[in-house]
Amino acid sequence: SREISGQFQELDIIGRGSFGVIRKVQHKPTGRTFVRKEISYRSMSKKEEKQLSSEFDILQNLNHPNIVQVYGYEKLPNEQVLNIYMEYCDGGDVSELIKKYRESKQYIPETLVWQIFTQTLLALYRCHYGVDIEQVVSMFKSTPEIKPPEISNLPVVIHRDIKPENIFFLSDKYTVKLGDFGLAKCLAPHTHFTQTYVGTPYYMPPEVILEQAYNTVCDVWSLGCVMYELCALTPPFTAKTHAQLQDKIKSGVYSELPSHYSNRLKMCIYACLITDPKERADVNQLLQETSFKIYRREWE
Ligand code: ADP
Ligand code: MG
Repeated sequence: SREISGQFQELDIIGRGSFGVIRKVQHKPTGRTFVRKEISYRSMSKKEEKQLSSEFDILQNLNHPNIVQVYGYEKLPNEQVLNIYMEYCDGGDVSELIKKYRESKQYIPETLVWQIFTQTLLALYRCHYGVDIEQVVSMFKSTPEIKPPEISNLPVVIHRDIKPENIFFLSDKYTVKLGDFGLAKCLAPHTHFTQTYVGTPYYMPPEVILEQAYNTVCDVWSLGCVMYELCALTPPFTAKTHAQLQDKIKSGVYSELPSHYSNRLKMCIYACLITDPKERADVNQLLQETSFKIYRREWE
């Protein structure tokens, strides 16, 4: 595995993550730029270390145009470092976009909001249903309503940390990529619920705060919070203390979105922010509503 790092020229550090640094690297033979996440597993237990590698086996197989592509990883046992090689997204992230508009006191154009919404939904469809919706659509060309495949023997991936900082842009500013699967959870086939959760407080779903079992729609809640923030330029739930924030999220009460956004967009976002996970929209329903095909055509 030493050979992999030998093929790369180290460039700048572009981020500091919770486990280590994120560095730009150049693949010497091709000149292409990649991102390398350098995770120190020195202080991890054997179990955590194993989980980390198995998670990246899954990520490597999550090939989707709207998911940050992982190309490979290597373990450096002497340094106790795990290096993950990923696609470089050079167009910034959604948190920077929100900040830019907030500072210039302007609202984000609705088409841009839809663009981020639909592309993140397409990424989550791949995670939650184990297939790409495009494949499903081509299988059922004549059926107006797209049905997700029965949860088969495909692993279900829950992202668990959907937030503006983890949604990236390519430099074309049109392609959206869901990244940072560092907290992602892979559920074995036929397992529908899981219990442990770690995520970012503003975007944390009520069922997690209530310490209930949760499933894939927890990502929908967090996505709803991000979409809300894109429209209102402030998250739906904010508070001074952690406890107050949790109370607000559990109450599910937020201010209405700015009136210049369409009802259709607002309805889609409100459908994500339903506190009862059983009542909340799922990714498939949302994609039907956003008529993803129309919006894909618009930006192509
Ligand atoms: P963490 O778990 O620490 O949040 P992230 O994967 O979100 O790790 O990376 C932290 C930061 O590094 C990001 O906010 C971003 O600025 C940068 N970064 C991470 N991955 C990429 C990437 N593929 N392309 C460009 N920048 C990235
Ligand atoms: Mg992150």
